Amino acid sequence: MLVEPERTAYDLRFRLLGFPIRIHPLFWLGAALLGAFTLNMGFQYLLIWMAVVLVSLLVHELGHAVMFRWFGTNAAIVLYVFGGLAIPQAFVAGRWRRILISLAGPLAGFLLCAGVYVSNRQFHWASNPEGFLTGGREVGFFYLALLWVNLYWGILNLLPVFPLDGGQVSRELCGLVWGPRGTRIALQISLAVAVALVAYSLLCVLTANGPALAVVPWWLPRGTIFTAILFGLLAYTSYQLLQQLRWTDSSWDDRVPWER
Ligand SMILES: [Zn+2]
Repeated sequence: MLVEPERTAYDLRFRLLGFPIRIHPLFWLGAALLGAFTLNMGFQYLLIWMAVVLVSLLVHELGHAVMFRWFGTNAAIVLYVFGGLAIPQAFVAGRWRRILISLAGPLAGFLLCAGVYVSNRQFHWASNPEGFLTGGREVGFFYLALLWVNLYWGILNLLPVFPLDGGQVSRELCGLVWGPRGTRIALQISLAVAVALVAYSLLCVLTANGPALAVVPWWLPRGTIFTAILFGLLAYTSYQLLQQLRWTDSSWDDRVPWER
């Protein structure tokens, strides 16, 4: 599973809403890599992009942290390469509480996205209804990046793939339906979805988004070599967890014989 990355001398540490925040140095590298597409636009766009990623990931993790606090435990936030973690001080009992905590991260991002959109509709600080950039190109880029990063980071995290938020929700729901077998079924779903997304990403890359993808709606994000690698790694993680589960099942089978 996702474990807390080790502390380094280059960590950035501060507090936000009373939660301790730690930013691992690799976070900046991950954000810069994801922003590589800005390279031919100018260096200021890379800086804007990294600021947007920082704010968006913080808001997402704060969503989890606030919900942890709501259910009585404090949480620390760590931003790491390609993502973040909200680490609670104590285990939260109750399936529906844990589901709400998992959903609170994407929800916080969607609220920020909606807030940014509505504020621009009201005050036209980035663009006006005729489509003109009212605040210049940089402000227009900042606006669009805030919208898309928050929207798609939330959607990506809701996929039922471990260890994303949607994977945690899927595990809780499968546990609700199938009891102790739920974790295994959730991992199988996770593996199947991750493999399907690798196939979709590779299809997008290999056909260069050609006519083969005409059936895919325009608003559905296209796969890239990056999403192929990401979901490949997540598929492998799910596969490993399934193998571990199989091993612990056979070694630590303490059920009574007629339940086996
Ligand atoms: Zn999350």
